[in-house]
Amino acid sequence: MTAPIPDIDRAVRARADDARRLLEALVAAPSTAGAEQEAQIVLAEALEQLGFVTERAPIPPSIAEDPVAGIPAGAYGDRGNLLAVRGDGARPHVLINGHIDVVPAGEPQLWTTPPFAPQVRDGWLFGRGAGDMKGGFAMAWLAIAGLDEARPGWQQGRLSVLAVLEEECTGNGTLAAARAGILADCVVLPEPTDLQLLLGGVGILWFEVEIRGLSSHAEAADRAVNPIDVGLEIVEGLREWEAELNTALEDPLLAHVAHPYNLNVGTFHAGDWPSSVPALARIGFRVGFPRAWSPDEAEIRVRGVVEAIAAGHAWLRKHPPVVRLTGFRASGYALPQEAPLARALAASHADVLGEEPESVVLGTTTDARLYLNEFGIPAVCYGPRAVRIHGIDEAVELASIVDGARVLAAFLGRYLGSGRDGSPADAFQSRPAPIGTTL
Ligand SMILES: [Zn+2]
Repeated sequence: MTAPIPDIDRAVRARADDARRLLEALVAAPSTAGAEQEAQIVLAEALEQLGFVTERAPIPPSIAEDPVAGIPAGAYGDRGNLLAVRGDGARPHVLINGHIDVVPAGEPQLWTTPPFAPQVRDGWLFGRGAGDMKGGFAMAWLAIAGLDEARPGWQQGRLSVLAVLEEECTGNGTLAAARAGILADCVVLPEPTDLQLLLGGVGILWFEVEIRGLSSHAEAADRAVNPIDVGLEIVEGLREWEAELNTALEDPLLAHVAHPYNLNVGTFHAGDWPSSVPALARIGFRVGFPRAWSPDEAEIRVRGVVEAIAAGHAWLRKHPPVVRLTGFRASGYALPQEAPLARALAASHADVLGEEPESVVLGTTTDARLYLNEFGIPAVCYGPRAVRIHGIDEAVELASIVDGARVLAAFLGRYLGSGRDGSPADAFQSRPAPIGTTL
């Protein structure tokens, strides 16, 4: 193994405040779905300062027809991905992929400080998206800035940074970029992984169940049918299926996850007046499903469960609930732990931080699945330590951004640097881990 790299470490630490300022500017640009551009401009300017050439790559409406796409929430219009490229050599090519979209802030009044007014407390930066995953962009920027400082002219080949839309709901941003040919020898996604290697995840399906009720004045509620009550019965039925899913099906890669396949009720819309029985209820679900299933299979099973619930219910038998897909149609994925990319990043982590990183597979998804499953390109998630992502008071640990940047700088220096001492990037080629492998 190579020795630690004190010159790069020093340079990364020296620019840590600049990376924090970039992160604050990114968090202060609330990039929820449909409002991504301001944050992309912030990132583009920061990367241009490092000599990257940036462009906005639109998402064609035809992406919705792609067999691997999720269901778009609406038209993309002029929204697109940000692509930043440095170096004109075609190979080796390392792509850093991150998502610029953040989930909504939930209930802003419950935050200790406003979600889009970043604040540092006790070494943590608080704000929506601080962890998931603007801290990752700050980490990548810091790694590159530090390398540039310590080793001017270090880069050979090509280094790209892609800031995509819709990682949080469809994956269509990354899919569109990849279909447009924005690919590389390997992809690193600086998602918040607690400086662990996140190698894989489960399948994810989003769906909505719409329930018709029999509306009336509350005075006649006992003779009406309230779709909220009926909806809760559907939730209960789906919960039984969820329990079976988590006991009946085994994936050795998920053996360490107690409950990998979560069914989440994320939205419930019904009613507009306390003295009226609503006519409709719409419940928005997200369910995790086994890697052995395709999204189509997951959809068939969900429809089957809802149909079975309806068949045993007096009202629903005559007024069947409608099931619609609303976003993710994501397959499970996994990069083998022995894949050259995973080993290379683990080696950089060990060199810099003095111990082997943990490798994990979780009950979530990331855009890494698309590179691995659809394009045969090795992809791995590695990024800072974050807490309460998607929750109230989300925060990222600033020290972990610096440590992650030191590791990423070591990795980039080794595989794109002029004095490459590791395997060339084309040696990263590997196939997804088959079902049945263990970590
Ligand atoms: Zn994320």
